[in-house]
Amino acid sequence: AHWRQPEIKRTKTVCTYCGVGCSFEMWTRDREILKVQPVAEAPANGISTCVKGKFAWDFVNSKERLTMPLIRENGKFREASWDEALDKVAQKLLEIRNIHGPESIGFIGSSKGSNEEAYLTQKIARLIIGTNSVDNSSRYCQNPATEGLFRTVGYGGDAGSISDLEQAELIVIVGSNTAENHPVIAAKIKAARKHHGHKLLVVDPRKHEMAERADLYLRPTPGSDLVWASALSRYMFDHQLADDAFLAQQVNGVEEYRRSLAPFTLDYAAEMTGIPQADLVAAAEMIGRAKSVCILWAMGITQHSHGADTSTALSNLLLVTGNYGRPGTGGYPMRGHNNVQGASDFGCLANQYPGYEKVTDPQVRAKWAKAWGVAPEALSDQVGEDNFKMVQAAHQGTLRAMYITGEETAFADADAANVHDGFSKLDFMVVQDIFFSRTAQFADVVLPGCPSVEKEGTYVNTERRIQRFYEVMPPLGDSRPDWWIFTELAKRMGHDWGYTHPSQIMDEVASIAGIFAGVNYARLEGWASLQWPVAADGTDTPLLYTQGFHTDDGKATLYPLKWQEPAEQADGDYPYTLNNGRLLEMFQGNNQTGRVAGIRWLVPHWFVEISPELAARLGIASGHWLKITSRRDALEVPALVTDRVQGNNLFLPIHQGKDGVNKLTGEHHDPDVNTPAYKEVAVQLEVLARA
Ligand code: SF4
Repeated sequence: AHWRQPEIKRTKTVCTYCGVGCSFEMWTRDREILKVQPVAEAPANGISTCVKGKFAWDFVNSKERLTMPLIRENGKFREASWDEALDKVAQKLLEIRNIHGPESIGFIGSSKGSNEEAYLTQKIARLIIGTNSVDNSSRYCQNPATEGLFRTVGYGGDAGSISDLEQAELIVIVGSNTAENHPVIAAKIKAARKHHGHKLLVVDPRKHEMAERADLYLRPTPGSDLVWASALSRYMFDHQLADDAFLAQQVNGVEEYRRSLAPFTLDYAAEMTGIPQADLVAAAEMIGRAKSVCILWAMGITQHSHGADTSTALSNLLLVTGNYGRPGTGGYPMRGHNNVQGASDFGCLANQYPGYEKVTDPQVRAKWAKAWGVAPEALSDQVGEDNFKMVQAAHQGTLRAMYITGEETAFADADAANVHDGFSKLDFMVVQDIFFSRTAQFADVVLPGCPSVEKEGTYVNTERRIQRFYEVMPPLGDSRPDWWIFTELAKRMGHDWGYTHPSQIMDEVASIAGIFAGVNYARLEGWASLQWPVAADGTDTPLLYTQGFHTDDGKATLYPLKWQEPAEQADGDYPYTLNNGRLLEMFQGNNQTGRVAGIRWLVPHWFVEISPELAARLGIASGHWLKITSRRDALEVPALVTDRVQGNNLFLPIHQGKDGVNKLTGEHHDPDVNTPAYKEVAVQLEVLARA
């Protein structure tokens, strides 16, 4: 410590917000966070951060933090000791399992908790309860993207590193508001354009900052992206721009795929997407002639009723043009939460153990059973219920209990009223969080977890990079790290795992799950990091597919697709389409950013974006109060007239109010992955006040 500031402590931590995975030093005096200091050694971000990572930490010391376990009694919550609360949770879960069977209990793991905590969530579900019904919030965001990658190239993660983007001659951004949702990646793309003259193609119904900066910007009709992506693939074959040598050596299913592209002519694509044919040709020529192309995509693609298919179409296009396995190429689904990648990687998925090992594979089950010291029959061979199906099962009475850690499911899941009804039907619900969230209101027991700065652990960012974070300050009050809570709970359910530090949990995972074989805390010390898969000798994989694809024969697959219309579209009764997403300054349900005064000051008012042409037609000006009504419910919000949106399309930030946009969203979802179609909401507008 510096002699003039002896009491100042500097600790490495990793940002708790988006999936870029910025790391930095946090300077503290006791519990006071003095500043966030970026350092050049930080592997994902260097000296860059955004407003959230730099300034949005006051929530840590919020008076609203949960500091004691709570138990519901006669309709009210009272404080309880850890012993009483954990005994009650253990006893109730075992009782419900014994009476109704293992499938009567579901778990939702946290995308904000550590990898080690995600691992323990699924270990309790699989080993102690005996169910694979464990999921995480990737169901709401990038699950369709990983499905598209599983179908085509094999790994459910970004093909390369963030730093590789600088080597892409062309960066394509589709359905991702990168400047607001992954600001540090956007800054790197801006720098790559400025310093290396690289090109940027943006496809999005909303003209956000990166669209403004693009060399070519295409504005498709919402939900039509599969059509233009497939038309561009067809164009490559028709105009000798396909990479024939790459396809011959490294890709299966080329001819069948090529035949499946017959309907996707430029005429058809222009008609269905609203993109002028000349622009489609220009985009195809840009992609087909660039030496290296990567495609970034996010919720604008995945939160549709066929998001997995559209994600597949994007990966198909990369394969047709030979854009995998070299720096500056490949698919980059942009991960939202800081550890939504890790929550999936470490097994909070209804169909996969940690490391994406299938629960239905007898050899996989035998391996995990042996490692956990039980007979293979003790582990379920059935794919469990995901988030969507858990809510359905709660309605049907087959799911009797839920354990939700660090997820604001009551706010974040689509068709909120339906979710709330489902929760109300459960016999027992545990919520583990740092605040008394909207979801906690449905709980029977609330357990106070800790934010990242009060514990140790690791996160995985969007580029598959595993990074350590260290304890900056001790837990507030009687709150506890989630890994401690799970360990204590397991002990009360007859499984004494004996973990005293999260490094022991990581050692256990590494000894079982192949893609983490060489991961340990010593190799992650300080600013060191590893990108999975990591071989036993510690060699990691910044760039995937350099030695073939992650499939049985090492070849990728071109996957034929058909376009299907969005499940809910604007019509005579509900003539407007409500897009929705994040703002730069805020995060998801706003439980953290909403408790930071400076952030609240930056975004003092809610709003819905409305196009100048629609505003003129309806006589609306910015500030006029509107009532937005979907087939589910209605909410009231002031208008913001802007050409970021076009025609009958609206945009509503998701952080809005107590109930949020999910008052309006519906139950329709992608049948392949059960991700809600958040972006497919048809609404009416009513002007309430023009003052
Ligand atoms: Fe970095 Fe994302 Fe955190 Fe901003 S929110 S500092 S871009 S990790």
